[in-house]
Amino acid sequence: LGNSSVLQNSNTYPPYRFHLGDTECTVVSDGPLDLGPPAQSFPGVSEEEIREQLARNFLPIDTVLAEQNILIVQVGGKRVLFETGMGAEETLFGTNSGRLFSSLERAGIAPESVDAIACSHPHPDHIGGICSPSGEPRFPNAQIYLSKKDFSFWTDEKLLGTKADAAVKIARSNLLPVRDRLVFFEDGEEFLPGVQAMYTPGHTAEHTCFILTAKNQSLALIGDVSHHPVLLLERPRNHFVADLDPKQAAASRVRLFAMLAEKRMPILGYHFPWPGIGHVAAEGDGFRYVPEAVRWTAT
Ligand SMILES: [Zn+2]
Repeated sequence: LGNSSVLQNSNTYPPYRFHLGDTECTVVSDGPLDLGPPAQSFPGVSEEEIREQLARNFLPIDTVLAEQNILIVQVGGKRVLFETGMGAEETLFGTNSGRLFSSLERAGIAPESVDAIACSHPHPDHIGGICSPSGEPRFPNAQIYLSKKDFSFWTDEKLLGTKADAAVKIARSNLLPVRDRLVFFEDGEEFLPGVQAMYTPGHTAEHTCFILTAKNQSLALIGDVSHHPVLLLERPRNHFVADLDPKQAAASRVRLFAMLAEKRMPILGYHFPWPGIGHVAAEGDGFRYVPEAVRWTAT
């Protein structure tokens, strides 16, 4: 099977609005990351097997594009942003990212109006938009919620010069200038009204999913539990190259997706095709992602 996907244009996405219970939610994009040839990102599986999975799902077989779907909600009188994208960093995953601020402008959301930022973990594509390259906070009124253990690990200067060097530099330049604005959540804690932290360790030691609940409706923000809507759902025990502990990440993935499938809880896949809203269903030895159709809703 050849490359059967249709080429996509390079326009930015308009803001996508939907309701969860009585809460208005908006998804904006930081633009896609180019992860390069699939075999680089998903080791331990033959290239042939990956190509078969991608081709069978009508996906590009030569490169993996990972979206960055950033959610904004109003909870308890606070405007909360989930993840911040790559910021100005253009050397790691191509030049199509860094669009968060133009996307926010298009959505009519001023950075000054953001009260809280929640990050699943401190990797570049999640915390890269917190500060400008010169160290100025880009969301001057926001407190930043993340895991303490992950913060300490990814800003540790001892990791400079190791293979984590680029990620640590970006974490240090985005998080250290706002050190006094950081708030650390615990596993299971409802750290903002209707926003619960759920540790899903493996990608990082305390990688965190967020369960957002409004009026008896919940949405699971799965962060980097899966970087791909097919490869790591059909074969959830396969590995992703940037997982700190791939076996633990796989166990978290299986556990989370089994729970989401059983509860029929909708998800927001940060790296899934825009806007990343859908469901996870159990299928065979793994799972299947069922995207929800994009539609216009009265707001
Ligand atoms: Zn990520």
